[in-house]
Amino acid sequence: MAEVLSREIRLKKRPAGIPDESDFEVAEVRVPEPGQGEALVRNIYMSVDPYMRGRMNDAPSYVPPFELSKPLEGGCVGQVVASKTGALQVGDYVLGMKGWREFYLSDGGDLAKVDPRLGPIQAYLGILGMPGMTAHVGLLEMGRPKPGETVFVSAASGAVGSVACQIAKIKGCRVVGSAGSDDKVSWLLDTAKIDGAINYKRAENLSAEIGKLFPDGIDIYYENVGGKHLDAALDNMKPFGRIVLCGMISQYNATRREPGPSNLFLAITKRLTLQGFIVSDHMDKRAQFLADMGNWIREGRIKWKETIVEGIENAPKAFIGLFKGENFGKMLVKIGPDPAV
Ligand code: NDP
Repeated sequence: MAEVLSREIRLKKRPAGIPDESDFEVAEVRVPEPGQGEALVRNIYMSVDPYMRGRMNDAPSYVPPFELSKPLEGGCVGQVVASKTGALQVGDYVLGMKGWREFYLSDGGDLAKVDPRLGPIQAYLGILGMPGMTAHVGLLEMGRPKPGETVFVSAASGAVGSVACQIAKIKGCRVVGSAGSDDKVSWLLDTAKIDGAINYKRAENLSAEIGKLFPDGIDIYYENVGGKHLDAALDNMKPFGRIVLCGMISQYNATRREPGPSNLFLAITKRLTLQGFIVSDHMDKRAQFLADMGNWIREGRIKWKETIVEGIENAPKAFIGLFKGENFGKMLVKIGPDPAV
């Protein structure tokens, strides 16, 4: 196969506050035919994730910042279309981190093969991928739920939250989630079958609304949002409760540091444990995650939703939509056709 033209999305300037589509640019590059030991991959799906917002700032963190005028990176599933390496055959589906572009070369060392017979290929970016594993590790390792305990989950209809809710149910807990629309609340109650759900955008007093649904308090708060949600959860925690600090999406676009929870002293009086984690520190749990999730999906015990935006040129819009609640479940961008569908 000769060289191909590949569109890619670059970061044009670092966003201030909520990103704007003008912070990104589409460029076209030539990707040469694979050299010896290389394969050419055509991306089919790419993931947009809230953590990418942090990488758009020029600030030290657990992953380096994205570079300006270079293609962005992130989870993607594609298919090998030309190969000069025994590690990859034409037609193989692969999971990698070279999203935000149509084609790329790889020696296979940075890719994992994906079996399309086990589930839709895009599931490896959601329920069977990083977000699913984040829910699994965060809830089970940090939250340590026991049957009969009470669990509150914020951003509960999202990629991570929806899975955290359902794992908590599988573990015999009473689960309440919060989400930003009535449709999301209905899905949580009717399809994910959790015990209670709040549309936080309608709540005049979030703490009081949560309190009504947890008359005896919360054992585990699975935190995805921060800000007012954290204050409200702290108010309602039981003594010796655990707060799993997974994410704080309400803070990611802040242009200045806001004061922290006004009631953090409750962590002392209630003897709470607040524990942050990053899923990539727990890759030793991946086999257990895939085994559990595979079983739960086969048994029909886990449901999930996806929002699929078509076209690589719309990837910035999809990413920005994460901060406006435009996704219902996992937000994905479809870059090209999947020949198997
Ligand atoms: P989601 O699929 O949940 O998408 C983001 C959702 O967050 C939106 O749909 C929206 O839903 C909600 N949201 C956005 N802005 C706000 C706001 N200001 N206040 C309240 N809710 C808001 O994303 P993910 O499932 O991928 O990620 C969920 C969280 O988990 C994020 O904080 C992310 O950073 C974190 N994370 C952490 C990881 C780790 O290793 N620690 C790994 C992966 C994710 P709604 O309509 O309900 O408002």
